[in-house]
Amino acid sequence: VRVRISKDQLTETFRLLRDCGRGDRECQVLWLSPWHDPDRIVKVVHSKHAGHAFGFQLEDEFIDRLWLDLAANGVGVRVQVHTHPGEAFHSQTDDEWPIVHTAGFLSLVVPDFARGPVGFENTYLACIEANGAWGERRAEEIFRVEVPA
Ligand SMILES: [Zn+2]
Repeated sequence: VRVRISKDQLTETFRLLRDCGRGDRECQVLWLSPWHDPDRIVKVVHSKHAGHAFGFQLEDEFIDRLWLDLAANGVGVRVQVHTHPGEAFHSQTDDEWPIVHTAGFLSLVVPDFARGPVGFENTYLACIEANGAWGERRAEEIFRVEVPA
């Protein structure tokens, strides 16, 4: 699978993660794609959440409104992106916040509150397998960053 995201969307994601996290709080951003073209990211959404050094909590109201918006626009959450204070890995907490439980859903963890270079270096990518368990993927192999000509 190749999930296409533009360079601008990737840059925007890092900007949101850094601005919200301020170097000491976790943050989450969602990448949306159309149901008819699920491997093309069309929108980057900063979720409404409470954040602290070792986790974040989505606001119920945000989730309720998100589902309505998604249904109205024919899009779904393709990838969840969130930061960790230090190293990027898939934690127990991450299992509890998948938002989507379908096979193929991707969760990207960005280390060091996203203060590093924009890109997939040192990130950790997990995917929900057909059996419902999380498996590891290489972000460089899954994502294709597109730069407009
Ligand atoms: Zn945030």
